[in-house]
Amino acid sequence: PLSTTDLIEEHRICVCVRKRPLNKKELTIRDLDVITIPSKDVVMVHEPKQKVDLTRYLENQTFRFDYAFDDSTTNEMVYRFTARPLVETIFERGMATCFAYGQTGSGKTHTMGGDFSGKNQDCSKGIYALASRDVFVMLKKPCHKKLDLQVYATFFEIYSGKVFDLLNGKAKLRVLEDGKQQVQVVGLHERDVKCTEDVLKLIEVGNSCRTSGQTSANAHSSRSHAVFQIILRRKGKMHGKFSLIDLAGNERGADTSSADRQTRLEGAEINKSLLALKECIRALGRNKPHTPFRASKLTQVLRDSFIGENSRTCMIATISPGMTSCENTLNTLRYANRVK
Ligand code: ADP
Ligand code: MG
Repeated sequence: PLSTTDLIEEHRICVCVRKRPLNKKELTIRDLDVITIPSKDVVMVHEPKQKVDLTRYLENQTFRFDYAFDDSTTNEMVYRFTARPLVETIFERGMATCFAYGQTGSGKTHTMGGDFSGKNQDCSKGIYALASRDVFVMLKKPCHKKLDLQVYATFFEIYSGKVFDLLNGKAKLRVLEDGKQQVQVVGLHERDVKCTEDVLKLIEVGNSCRTSGQTSANAHSSRSHAVFQIILRRKGKMHGKFSLIDLAGNERGADTSSADRQTRLEGAEINKSLLALKECIRALGRNKPHTPFRASKLTQVLRDSFIGENSRTCMIATISPGMTSCENTLNTLRYANRVK
C-alpha cells in the first residue's frame, strides 16, 4: 500500500474534500449532481511524493486541494490519505488533529464516527476506529514497545461554548488556563484502552450520550463539536495526542438572524469557533508566533495541538453533491481553500 508520510513531511496541513453520493431524498426530487471530480485525479493513480492536483467545478468555480475523494471512495481510503499519516506523528511525540468540516448532512459523522444510517450502527468503519486500530498496531512495533506507552481515550462535546464529557454522563466541565498558558479540561475522563474493541465501546457510549434527550439526533449534533482523542502516555506524561473532531454544521453559523434567541446565540458561537479555527490552522501552517486560540472554546481546548513544534493537522471538508446544497457547498470549499 502507498505510504503518504513523505508526502506531508514538509506540510503541516493537509486539506481535502470528500463528496458523498446523492441521497434518497435528493434522488426523489431529481436534484442535480453539480460536483465533478475528474477521474484522472482520483488518488489511487498517483505515486507517493507527487502532489495531487485536483480540479472541481461548481458554477464554473474550480478549487484545488491536496486530495479530493469522489462519492465512490470508502472511509478506509479517505482515512489512508488523511488521518493515517498522522498516527505516526503521535508516536514521534507530536500532536495531531483531524477535522471534519461541512454542512449538516454532508457526511462528517459518517466519515469520523462510522455508519449510523439504518438500524445496525457500525462505528468500526469510521476514522475514530480506524485510527485507534492503527495506534494499537503501531504500539506492537519493537521500537515503540520498549517505550512502554499507555493508551487513553477521551470523548467530549462542545456545545454553545460549554464542554460536556460524553464518557461521563454529559458532565459539564470547566476549562482552565494556568500561568504557563497550559489549557486543562478539569475532570475530563481519560479512559484506559487496551485494544480497538475497548475504543469501539467508548465510541458507542459517547455517541448515545451525545444524542440522548434530544428529539432529533442531527438537530443536536449539528450544533455541537464532538472531540474524540487518543492519548499516548509514557510514565504518566503525555507523549502524543490525536484529536479527531466532528465539527458543528457550518450552515449553523448563519443562524445569527434567527427569531429564536437560543438559536441565535448558538449560531454566533459556532460562527466564532469556526472562524477562530481557520485562523489557528493558518497560523500553524505559516509558523506564525501568535495563535489566536483564546477566541473560542474549541480552539482553546485544542491549544496544545496548534502550538507544538511537531503539530500536524488535516481537514476533511465534506460536501453534498446536489444543486440544492450549492450555496453551502461553495461556502465549505471557500473555507477549506482558506485553510490550506
Ligand atoms: P453530518 O454528520 O455531516 O450531518 P452524516 O454523516 O450524518 O452527516 O450523513 C448524512 C447521511 O448521509 C447519513 O445517513 C449517512 O449515512 C449518509 N452519508 C454520508 N456520507 C456518505 C458517504 N460517503 N457514502 C454513503 N452515505 C453517506
Ligand atoms: Mg453529524
